[in-house]
Parts: sequence; C-alpha cells; structure tokens
Amino acid sequence: EPIVTFEQVSYQYADGTLALDRVNLTIEIGKKIAIIGNNGAGKSTLFLLLNGILKPTSGSILFDGKKLTYSRKEMKELRQQVGIVFQNPETQLFSSNVYDDIKFGPKNLQLSSAEIERRVNEVMIVTETELLKDTPPHFLSIGQKKRVAIAGIVAMDPKLMVLDEPTAGLDPYYSKKIMALLKVMHHPNRTIILSTHNVDLVYEWADEVIILFDGHLLAQGSVVDVFRNT
Ligand code: ADP
Ligand code: ADP
Repeated sequence: EPIVTFEQVSYQYADGTLALDRVNLTIEIGKKIAIIGNNGAGKSTLFLLLNGILKPTSGSILFDGKKLTYSRKEMKELRQQVGIVFQNPETQLFSSNVYDDIKFGPKNLQLSSAEIERRVNEVMIVTETELLKDTPPHFLSIGQKKRVAIAGIVAMDPKLMVLDEPTAGLDPYYSKKIMALLKVMHHPNRTIILSTHNVDLVYEWADEVIILFDGHLLAQGSVVDVFRNT
C-alpha cells in the first residue's frame, strides 16, 4: 500500500530552473528508501514537495491515498505526518536547550504533557542525547546536532521520515551511530526516505533505491536490481 505517489510531477523554480521533470514514483508504507543523485538532481526539491512546502508546478501528489489539494487543514496534517531532517540541522534547532528542541514538535500535536514527556524521554535514550538535555544547541558538535534534530522528528512519530544527507559531514564514528539510529527508528508503519552519497549506507540500510539525474527519475527498485542494471 503506498504512502506517497507522484504522478507526472514537475517542479520549476521562479527563475525557470526545471528541478524535477515529470517524475512518477510510488513509495510503499514501511519501506527504507535511499535517494541518490548528482548535485542539482532535484533531491531537496523532491523532499520539499513531500511535506508540502513546495507544490508541483504540474502533475499531482497523493499522500495516504488522497490527492493533495493544499488546503490549510491538509497542510497542517501533512506537516505532522511528514518529518524532515534537513541537511544542515542548525536550521531546525532554535530552542535554548536540547530538551526544549526535542519537545517542540510533539508540543504542537495536542498531546497530554505526560505523553509529550514520555516521548521526549524515550527518544533521548534512543538517540543518546539525554546527557545533552540542558545544553544549548549551538554548543553541540555536528553529529550531536543531527541526533537532536532526528530525535525531535521521531518524537512526533511521523508516518514518513525524510532525511537529507543524514551522514554528510560526519566522521565514520558518528556516521555509524546515525546508521544504527536509522535502523532502530524504523518500524513497519513508518516509511523512511533519505538522500545520501554513502554507498555503504545504501547497501546496509535501504530496501529500495531511487536514482535521480538532472530532474529525471532514472531508476527505482531493490538495491540489487538497481545497481545491477545501471
Ligand atoms: P539536489 O538536492 O539534488 O542537489 P535541488 O533540488 O537542490 O537538487 O536542486 C535541483 C535544481 O533546482 C538545481 O538545478 C538547483 O540549482 C535548482 N534550485 C534549487 N533551489 C532553487 C531555487 N530556490 N531557485 C532556483 N533554482 C533552484
Ligand atoms: P543540497 O546540497 O541539499 O543539494 P543545495 O546546495 O542544492 O542543497 O541548495 C542549498 C539551498 O540553496 C537550498 O535551499 C536550495 O533550494 C537553494 N538553491 C539551490 N540552487 C539554487 C539556485 N539556483 N537558486 C536559488 N537557490 C538555490
């Protein structure tokens, strides 16, 4: 059963750049998907389309079986169900300490304060951020910032998690930690999509690979099939 379907989706920026050109793809619930592609291939644009920050300039997107109409109510729901961890985690950490940053997302979900605290404490253990809880985010290393950003998204329990180059700029030790974390975070109802240049990560983690090249979808399939045929 698909969580997201793209039907002939194109996205053209205001300056005329065609970032995605008639992309068709289906993303099944519970899959772990790696997107690879050249710089400028359209990966970030695709991610912004997934959570409704951008709207296709042509074609349509279905989320959970429903065609997006971009009403305000729908956008609010979409942002609760699609959690994005941006490549540069600084852009999404803005509270005075790690605990408040992780709490920020679930706080907007109308949960009881007991449930919010339960989730925050649970994800702090999983992401190994509990010792950092009183630390202001700007004192954190890049690897720590990524873990905090991931924790904040996981605490919202999104159906779809999207991570833009989660291991970029990390040394092998922290890359391994993030990869371990990505394995723990996965469960049958949560779909995870990430972009990466890290081939080890693709092989070790992904069920499926999507290859984008200059705005075109070149291939989608199992890791073995895609690498055998391209
Ligand atoms: P990727 O994440 O794969 O590097 P992007 O989605 O960032 O690719 O970019 C796809 C194409 O769209 C590139 O040619 C890029 O320069 C262009 N692009 C991205 N953002 C903008 C923007 N805000 N305005 C104009 N062009 C953009
Ligand atoms: P990434 O490394 O994730 O592919 P980029 O370096 O392509 O990111 O882009 C970083 C930021 O700059 C993004 O917000 C993107 O939308 C924007 N951007 C990229 N290309 C252009 C462009 N040609 N014009 C304006 N903004 C751009």
